[in-house]
Amino acid sequence: MTTQLTILGSTGSIGLSTLDVVARQPDRYCIHALTAHRNVERMREQCLRHQPAVAVMVDVEAGEALRTALAAAGCNTEVRTGVEALAEVAREPRVDAVMAAIVGAAGLLPTLAAAEAGKRVLLANKEALVMSGALLMDAVRRSGACLLPIDSEHNAIFQCLPNGYVCAESVTPHGARRIWLTASGGPFRDRPLDSFAGITPDEACAHPNWDMGRKISVDSATMMNKGLEVIEACWLFAVEPSMIQVVLHPQSIVHSMVAYDDGSVLAQLGNPDMRTPIAHALAWPERMESGVQPLDVLAMGKLEFYEPEAARFPALGLAYKALERGGTATAVLNAANEVAVEAFLQEGLAFSEITTVIAATLDAIEAEPVDSLERVLSADQRAREVASEWVAKTRNVVS
Ligand code: NAD
Ligand code: MG
Repeated sequence: MTTQLTILGSTGSIGLSTLDVVARQPDRYCIHALTAHRNVERMREQCLRHQPAVAVMVDVEAGEALRTALAAAGCNTEVRTGVEALAEVAREPRVDAVMAAIVGAAGLLPTLAAAEAGKRVLLANKEALVMSGALLMDAVRRSGACLLPIDSEHNAIFQCLPNGYVCAESVTPHGARRIWLTASGGPFRDRPLDSFAGITPDEACAHPNWDMGRKISVDSATMMNKGLEVIEACWLFAVEPSMIQVVLHPQSIVHSMVAYDDGSVLAQLGNPDMRTPIAHALAWPERMESGVQPLDVLAMGKLEFYEPEAARFPALGLAYKALERGGTATAVLNAANEVAVEAFLQEGLAFSEITTVIAATLDAIEAEPVDSLERVLSADQRAREVASEWVAKTRNVVS
């Protein structure tokens, strides 16, 4: 049977990798919808190549331009615009699986819509879980959605858990005792700390092992990405933060590990290529071809593991602090991070000030229980305001 797929964020790095995997299995997958923010040219190419029933452009003008371009090319894809169209194509009854690959808080509502509609949800958009893990996991439990992690570490952990394990269920009754979450350490693992203030956006986005979108690349450089992933793991595997240990592994070959009560440690290995977790989650519980270069274990050399330095990566400590506070604190952390990273990429906020802005925002806003979506969205909004004020203040001091 063909699987009908919606790809939220098809023009991004994960979106492109997903289309690459899907194109290798034309009999298994049929694209219902592709969505993007405003990249008309890339979406035009994707529509011509993959012939989705629907293409969503959040930006209305970009949607108009796409409509004109597709009509000129004789393509029948229906173009929809606006934010609400994202949730529509995520909950569409004929859709079986939704790849949630929008970056940041913008992915929350459509990801939640897919979970509420009981889809197979392939979750790349970790920010959705960080903002509202309680609501998202609740929606998964109520609807019976099948949630599968795309983040390489979480996908690895899932693969190291016994058959029959489903996300949202605690891993401890399965005998799991500790989760080792691996991190490459990003491009600044060995850079002298006193040169951090001068780091440029291009340096921060040049990840040694992974080719990713700009926001997650900066998150990897600060290691906020790992902080967000610790929070993500707590929700996906229903564990306490103390069960998770972050470990630096510069080779990015071991994607994470699970230690069991009997002393066994299971790891998932592979070349760093997101097509592996994408193909795994699409085909699960089967396996399929992904196009990834096979790992040559004889050529891979040494595998190293270190403890991350707290002073080099303060973002990691901030994520643990938000987790400890609980409730809306992780939504505040996420929003402050999005504002600070954008300011670093676009407005010249110093790299070393990203965590200053996040810490100040976290301290300024009291955590509240996550009992509704409105509560999460209002914490997100408030955090964006506070973080923007801090960005303005910090930049005034620097300039
Ligand atoms: P990207 O920047 O390359 O792509 C983002 C996609 O989201 C694009 O299609 C863009 O059009 C869309 N988008 C951006 N803003 C939007 C908005 N306001 N409304 C609607 N759509 C919007 O990002 P990416 O690297 O593909 O990452 C996507 C998600 O996957 C992130 O949450 C990231 O943390 C996660 N992830 C990525 C990787 C990776 O290797 N790239 C690995 C693990 C997890
Ligand atoms: Mg990851």
